[in-house]
Order: sequence, then structure tokens, then C-alpha cells
Amino acid sequence: MHVAVLGAGTMGHGIAQVSAMAGHDVWIRDIEREFVDDGLDAIAENLQGGVERDKVTQEEKAATLDRLAGTTSLEAAVSDADIVIEAVPEEMAIKQETFEAVEEHVDDDAIVASNTSSLSLTEIASALDRPERAVGLHFFNPVHIMELVEIVVAEQTSEATLDAAREFVEGIDRTPVEVTDSPGFASSRLGVALGVEAMRMVQEGVASPEDIDAAMELGYNHPEGPIALGDVVGLDVRLDILEHLREELGERFRPPQILKRKVRAGKLGKKTGEGFYVWEDGEIVGTSGDWGRSDDRSRRVRL
Ligand code: NAD
Repeated sequence: MHVAVLGAGTMGHGIAQVSAMAGHDVWIRDIEREFVDDGLDAIAENLQGGVERDKVTQEEKAATLDRLAGTTSLEAAVSDADIVIEAVPEEMAIKQETFEAVEEHVDDDAIVASNTSSLSLTEIASALDRPERAVGLHFFNPVHIMELVEIVVAEQTSEATLDAAREFVEGIDRTPVEVTDSPGFASSRLGVALGVEAMRMVQEGVASPEDIDAAMELGYNHPEGPIALGDVVGLDVRLDILEHLREELGERFRPPQILKRKVRAGKLGKKTGEGFYVWEDGEIVGTSGDWGRSDDRSRRVRL
């Protein structure tokens, strides 16, 4: 099968890697040669890491790299493709322009997929003359490790497209779940719902971030608690998603004050060294001062 991946960034190079590892011929396209090369380098490094950890053989690494080609030409990337997967920036106009441009060069029966994490697939698909060929393939970061792919079914997606998408995802050793195009799909909507309630609990003084995280890690076997996960994702990113979901789905996604205050203070989580936790060298070393500043519980409750 011939796969075209548009965008060689964080997600694009990961999707290209897992597609090539599964035996597909892959073209990866970005707008500058430098970005294409960065993506290909990142794949080579990743595979080398796999070799060092005995997860990938030297032969698999070499064969995977052989199946990959980079280009800045959209036409070269997509003209023979059975499936095109875009992983360009998360903006409706860019997604729609990309879909439109792809349709000028692909065969009639090619699938056109988007890796959007939050935009309406139905709206992206409306840029196509043949929108029944559109589908969402929502991969997770890092792609070579994460098993899940959400298949997002747009209003216009045909049964044949859905079948082909399912077959493709299973063929690259990933597990698909199917979800109707709706805000936050399944994964973000539920993940964010848990995260926002956990933040409200900190705000109300119900429990400390550590205790809330431990409750979910030890009581529900989550690999990482919801407060720590928010710090890892970035509190600014969390706030943006919440605002979007509140607009689309209602007040239950209203961002709590504690989150807004942290974002206004530049306490964005792991990437800035402080969020709900204090971070050093990528590890949690303490809790941010908003919690535990006083032994007076009533003060905490007012936070
Ligand atoms: P990124 O910024 O790392 O990569 C985007 C790449 O697209 C850049 O290299 C950019 O040069 C390139 N680009 C811009 N316009 C282009 C065009 N017209 N054609 C080809 N390439 C173009 O972004 P990312 O994190 O890889 O995100 C890409 C998409 O994946 C977004 O829709 C995002 O919401 C989604 N997503 C991201 C994550 C994540 O954790 N990063 C997870 C799931 C889904």
C-alpha cells in the first residue's frame, strides 16, 4: 500500500514511521526541505533507539528506512497514494486547504484522513468534492508507542471509507475505536472531564494533588493521575480544550478559577517548571504553593 503523510512534525513523522514499519511505502511531505529532513532524522533516531532496546532488529530498521521517502512536493507525495493522512497544524483553514489541494492529485478511490485532535471532521471534509472519502485517524503521541487510534466518522464518511480506515489501522498494529465526529471525540472528552473535576477538587480543598493522583493511580490503575497528566500536557493546552468543549457541550466543562490563575501566572506545568506540581529535570519535586500554603483548611477551600 502507498501511504502519504502530510506534515513531518511530532505526529507526522510518527505516523510515517509506524506505517513504514508495517510494510507500506510511505511518502512524507512538509513545506520546507529542512522540516522533511528533521522528520526523517527523528524516525531514524527512534528506530536506532528501538535497536538499542532490542525492540527492532537492524534489518527491520534498514527496511523501514528504505520504504520512506521525503519530499516538499504535494503532488509527488499523494499522486499514487491509497491513503493520505494529514498531520499539519491544528487550524481549520490549513486543514481545508490541505484537503482541497490533495483532491486535485489523488485517485478517485483514495482515502483522505485527518489527524485532527479537536476540529470538526465534518467541516474539514466539506472542503472535498467527494467528502465520503474523508475520515479522522486520531493518533496519540508518541505514535510509535501508543496503541490507540480513534477513527472519527464524519457526517459524510462512507461505509467503504470506514472499512478501509479500520483495515489500515489494524494493519499497522494499532487498535481502533470508532467515534462519531463530536467535540473532544471520546478520548479528550473523557480525559478532560476527569482532569477538570480533579482540579475543582484541589480548588475546593477536598484533597491534595498528590492524594488525588494516588487515588486514581492506585485505585483505578491509571498510569498517571489526572493532575500530573494536566501538568505534562500543559495547563494552557488544557485550558484551550476546556474553553472549546464548554462552548460546544456546555457548562460542565467550564474551566475552574485555579486553572485560569495558573495559566495567567505562566505556571503551565512541566514545560515551565511549575503547574500544580513543581518540576525539575522532567520530574516532580514538590507541590506548587497554591496547595499546602497553610494548615488552615478553610483557607485552602477559598483558593
Ligand atoms: P507539529 O507542529 O509538530 O507539525 C506540523 C508540521 O506540519 C510542521 O512540520 C509544519 O511545517 C507542517 N506543515 C504546515 N503546513 C503544511 C502543509 N500545508 N503541508 C505539509 N506540512 C505542513 O504539529 P503536531 O503536534 O505534529 O500536530 C499535527 C496535527 O496532529 C494537529 O492537527 C494536532 O492537533 C494533531 N495531534 C497532535 C498531537 C500531539 O500530541 N502533538 C496528538 C494528536 C493529534
